[in-house]
Amino acid sequence: MQKIFHFETNLIHAGQAPDSATGAVITPIYQTSTYAQEAVGVTKGFDYSRSDNPTRQALEHCLAALESPDQNHPAYGLAFSSGLAATDTLLRLIKPGEHVLASNDVYGGTFRLFDKVLKDYGIQFSFVDITDPNLVAAALRPETRLVWIETPTNPLLKIADIAEISKRVKAHSPQILVAVDNTFASPYLQQPLGLGADFVVHSTTKYLGGHSDVVGGAIIIKDKAHYEKLKFLQNAIGAVPGPQDSWLTLRGIKTLALRMERHSANAAEVAKYLVNHPAVERVIYPGLESHPGHLVAKKHMKLFGGMLSVILKGGAPAAKKLVEATKLFTLAESLGGVESLIEVPALMTHASVAGSALEVPAGLVRLSVGIENIEDLIQDLDQALATL
Ligand SMILES: *Cc1c(COP(=O)(O)O)cnc(C)c1O
Repeated sequence: MQKIFHFETNLIHAGQAPDSATGAVITPIYQTSTYAQEAVGVTKGFDYSRSDNPTRQALEHCLAALESPDQNHPAYGLAFSSGLAATDTLLRLIKPGEHVLASNDVYGGTFRLFDKVLKDYGIQFSFVDITDPNLVAAALRPETRLVWIETPTNPLLKIADIAEISKRVKAHSPQILVAVDNTFASPYLQQPLGLGADFVVHSTTKYLGGHSDVVGGAIIIKDKAHYEKLKFLQNAIGAVPGPQDSWLTLRGIKTLALRMERHSANAAEVAKYLVNHPAVERVIYPGLESHPGHLVAKKHMKLFGGMLSVILKGGAPAAKKLVEATKLFTLAESLGGVESLIEVPALMTHASVAGSALEVPAGLVRLSVGIENIEDLIQDLDQALATL
């Protein structure tokens, strides 16, 4: 019988028993596309690496353990070649004519996939402010099949009450599925399956991988029947990660708890610093009591994470100037790595929502606060803000 371990232990060991063939303590990179069969159809559990690969399987088992709400009822994990590949595969559960209700502040690429790709296949999408469960409930339609929650959102850091929304949605109809993009929180801070969601989606590119060196995605699934459908789709569609990428993600995951502690502590300090800066109009960080989602975040999240947005008094020109003036915060897209990044979503990560209802403020600057020394980070922001 499998022993039940705590989260931090699962980060390092779940799905990763020493290799049965060699005793290797670290899961090997099984860089192979195919597997020898002893007789026709007689395999050691693997026949082709799109269908299954031992390195990917270790990652999938590990991710499942991390998002399992209750270790006596383990969840199921599937890994993909990117976060959007995971989202696209999950959306194949939705048929033409059915409706998806999504947050009106989603990752720009998620919006583009919904609005510019999947809409053309007859799936209906509408977008609602998910910070208010009443608005979510009121926007459900007879043909609604999926509610897509992102929390905290990218880049406005809106907080959804996953438990309340799931309860309301399931009361409306148990047939409606609830998916949560948990990329910003990571499973260390928030575990949506335990709060009533059916699926968790991750861009493992971000905090799970944690080192800005690999692109990947995942779906973690509560229910076995849904898992079997998605496992079929994963193989049928084929957007799987290679063994090297799976290995890098597994390697990153081992330190997730330590990293999230430091990301959160540093971001809280940066928020405190920015709140008092004369060039700053508003700081958006769920850890601040002034954040409208603070109490819900406190209830559902262990800490408040490493992401933070700031609106400058000088608007868009000041935003551009600030991100070009930092020296330690690197001007780059993406987030969740050990190094601090800074960007202007309206011009970069969220350019694809321009002109839509999801447009983000032009003067918003998004910070992914890394795990460097906090004094160095604040000093860098201080010198950059002084140039405005
Ligand atoms: C980056 C991101 C995605 C997309 O993931 P990729 O790995 O880039 O495909 C989805 N959701 C959120 C919240 C993200 O930050």
